[in-house]
Amino acid sequence: MTTTPRFIFVTGGVVSSVGKGIAAASIGALLQARGFSVRLRKLEPYINIDPGTINPYKHGEVYVTNDGGETDLDLGHYERFTSVPTRATDLLTTGKIYSSVIARERRGDYLGSDIQVVPHITDEIKHFVLSEVNDVDFVICEVGGTVGDIESLPFLEAIRQLRNELGREHSVNIHLTLLPYIASAGELKTKPSQHSVRELRNIGIQPEFLICRSAQGFEEVTRKKLALFCNVPEKHIVDAPDVPWIYQIPLNFHKSDLDGALCRYFNINSSTVNLTPWHDLITQWQNPVSTVCMGVFGKYAHFLEAYKSLQEAISHAGIARSLKIDVRWIDTENEELTRKTLPGVDAIIVPGGFGTRGIQGKLEAIRYARENKIPFLGICFGMQLVIIEAARHLLGLQNASSTEFGETSEPVVALMTEWMQGEQLQRRTTCENMGGTMRLGAYPCKIVSGTCLSEVYAGEKEISERHRHRYEVNMAYKDRLEEVGLRFSGLSPDGELPEAVEYTDHPWFIAVQYHPEFKSRPFSPHPLFVHLVQAAWAKKESTT
Ligand code: GLN
Repeated sequence: MTTTPRFIFVTGGVVSSVGKGIAAASIGALLQARGFSVRLRKLEPYINIDPGTINPYKHGEVYVTNDGGETDLDLGHYERFTSVPTRATDLLTTGKIYSSVIARERRGDYLGSDIQVVPHITDEIKHFVLSEVNDVDFVICEVGGTVGDIESLPFLEAIRQLRNELGREHSVNIHLTLLPYIASAGELKTKPSQHSVRELRNIGIQPEFLICRSAQGFEEVTRKKLALFCNVPEKHIVDAPDVPWIYQIPLNFHKSDLDGALCRYFNINSSTVNLTPWHDLITQWQNPVSTVCMGVFGKYAHFLEAYKSLQEAISHAGIARSLKIDVRWIDTENEELTRKTLPGVDAIIVPGGFGTRGIQGKLEAIRYARENKIPFLGICFGMQLVIIEAARHLLGLQNASSTEFGETSEPVVALMTEWMQGEQLQRRTTCENMGGTMRLGAYPCKIVSGTCLSEVYAGEKEISERHRHRYEVNMAYKDRLEEVGLRFSGLSPDGELPEAVEYTDHPWFIAVQYHPEFKSRPFSPHPLFVHLVQAAWAKKESTT
């Protein structure tokens, strides 16, 4: 079907963090189940160009796209729910819009005009929303933040204009709100939703659908009240109670007939919907045969949004092997807790990270996994620390370190200054800008045959995985490390950049320079996590 795409704008009100990203992703999944193609995008009101420089404690994980975009974690949800690879241009921020408009002003593109939010900024937003979408049936655009925020105004104004230009038959607004439960009154309150819709109407947008979040769902009387005061048809109000698992949400939306109502709204004939894979996935998730305990030794143990894709990848792998994974998130700065936790886990992950905080605990977790033959997966920083641990304890190089932590006489991990990206030579120096200058996005990796890595990837010779790092394992130490049993099992096609290492005398110990978690999806779990979970299970079985 190649007509003008239909645009679904998803806005949020009342409070943030009620799951707009997952709602948008679920709508995408439902439309796919009806045979339509979708593209999901996010309009982010913050002024950063991208979240690459934002502390993960503040904004959660930075999700990396194939084309090297450092984006919002919601794009990870989009990919996991729809399997449509996201692109750097699927995230638009206020920062990107303004820097592009200002660059054009400097070039003289607007000679004679004074640059204003309306029309210049809003035109730029509209241009973005309408670009690169001709090949899809639906474009779902989530607007970050909450209606009423100062920063989101230009985005909402652009949507208001777009809706007039596209016409109602090609655009819809779905507004997501929260119905708080007031215990003393014993009821869910609709007033904040009413205010939020009023705020939207002040901007000139009347939502056609409401998705109302609450802990347990609402009664019919609440639906009637919402319809009356928010001016939305009763049939367009979706009950969205909390669910134990996010992948239940598409089926819940379907129960409320959201996808059917959307098709009717757009006058699209669509009578068949195939949700069998979703039902099967839930059944699989509900019926684990056993449990394994996974220890993740990292930094952001108190804010798991920072490890969103990792969390998801672990759970996908568990489902694939019918195992419930009890994940222990350990902040390695707490060395005592690290030491206490290590003996009780069936497998260990040391995830990506930056800076020196907590590295001692991470090195200890790595050494423990190596010496006690515990299944281990090191990711990015995790692999760099595997190299440091091996150099210090197996090669006896006490000063082995990464130049990320300061000058060292044994730079086993060092700043990369030159590398190839496709046909292009990339160059970096120590005094580079921090934003957008890492080795980012998908790079090919050649797998050495006969290795554990090769088995994981079912004998594939070359794979593609996503990167986000500034430092690189130093090839000058490769031969010495291989002599003590740390095999380099994955390399860049030119053989210059180490991509994966593994211990030859260990049942399952792999560390990779890339981030496999970004590519794991519920319907195609990443093989590295699946094999790790399998090894954890085997280890548990052999010791009980
Ligand atoms: N800090 C390391 C680097 O920049 C690893 C980064 C990461 O784990 N994503 O190379």
